[in-house]
Amino acid sequence: MNTENLKEQVSKEVESHRHQLSELSLKIHSNPELCFKEVKAATWLTEYLEENGFSIERGICELPTAFRASYGQGKPTIAMLAEYDALVNLGHACGHNLIAACAAGAGVASKPAIDQFGGTILVIGTPAEEGGGGKVIMADRGAFDNLDVAMKMHPDVRDSFATKSLASHGLEVEFHGKAAHVGTGPHLGINALEAMIQSFTAINSLRQHLRDKALVNGIITDGGVSASIIPAHSAGIFSLRAEDDASLDKLKEKVINCFSGAATATGARLEYRWRDTQYAAMRGNTTIAEVFSQNMKALGREMQLFNPFFQFSTDSGNVSRIVPTITAFIAIAPVEVAIHSPQFAEAAASEVGIRGLIDSAKAFAMTIVDLLANPEIVNKAKEEFAQNK
Ligand SMILES: [Zn+2]
Ligand SMILES: [Zn+2]
Repeated sequence: MNTENLKEQVSKEVESHRHQLSELSLKIHSNPELCFKEVKAATWLTEYLEENGFSIERGICELPTAFRASYGQGKPTIAMLAEYDALVNLGHACGHNLIAACAAGAGVASKPAIDQFGGTILVIGTPAEEGGGGKVIMADRGAFDNLDVAMKMHPDVRDSFATKSLASHGLEVEFHGKAAHVGTGPHLGINALEAMIQSFTAINSLRQHLRDKALVNGIITDGGVSASIIPAHSAGIFSLRAEDDASLDKLKEKVINCFSGAATATGARLEYRWRDTQYAAMRGNTTIAEVFSQNMKALGREMQLFNPFFQFSTDSGNVSRIVPTITAFIAIAPVEVAIHSPQFAEAAASEVGIRGLIDSAKAFAMTIVDLLANPEIVNKAKEEFAQNK
């Protein structure tokens, strides 16, 4: 069968699974599970893939809700990445239910292409994108090492590509002071809350000297226990982001200086811990993006090849440093709707959301046909990847 006919066939395969994929994504949507606890989602996804002829390995990389589903054998190995975790109090306000169903649907639909050309299609279940850094851990444990291409959909308010994302790292900070009565013994106390407040003030001063894309955000999680006791302990959680890994390293140093200065000024003892997983800045592969873009065009959707709005971080950034990767942003809501809002959660279960899932699953399956039929595209993607490294 020629490539165009095969693309038509895989697109029809997605269409014939429309009802199942829609149900799967809505079921995940109405059963939101937080990072590393996505037991139901991982079960439903692997069941669907298994029913459709994929071999399943559950709990890969020592993560119970991670999985690898594979069909075919040999090279090239093309992976669809699935995410399925939700947000605290907001449910699927990042639309990962759609990512999950899209990855599974594209994987299953591309089977005829594997049957014709050979190669392997994987659907890799990657838990804990929202803060847990599931893909960072999986990358360290080799989950993406033998891939030729990795692809993922992410709901958004525009049809575009994540050509870039910010590098980011989370930080936990504590100050240890000394409790004392605020009236009779303030001279005996050391105020841990004041140390935290001074840190925020110092970071706010630093902010005017930061580069464009640098972000420092924080919350106080402990600010004392009583207004009549000098706080002996304070704690906060911070998130630092920057345009690239080198800028992030410089930012980290400057922010730690803010905390150290506050510790010196107040006499409180500083203790801090960087989170285990640092999200790398994304380097999206434009060779594959262009192929995907052409396929979306054939389905009547216009992709922007560059997205100037990249004030976000994702653990797919780490995948993009190991293998040529694309993240296709698919519009499921109007531009004025914020991601991580209740309105976006609604959109992730809407008609428009399901259309985004189906259209992108078709375009991914068609892209897999292109990649299998034209090994030179994969080679070109790898050359671009090597140059970008
Ligand atoms: Zn999110
Ligand atoms: Zn997300």
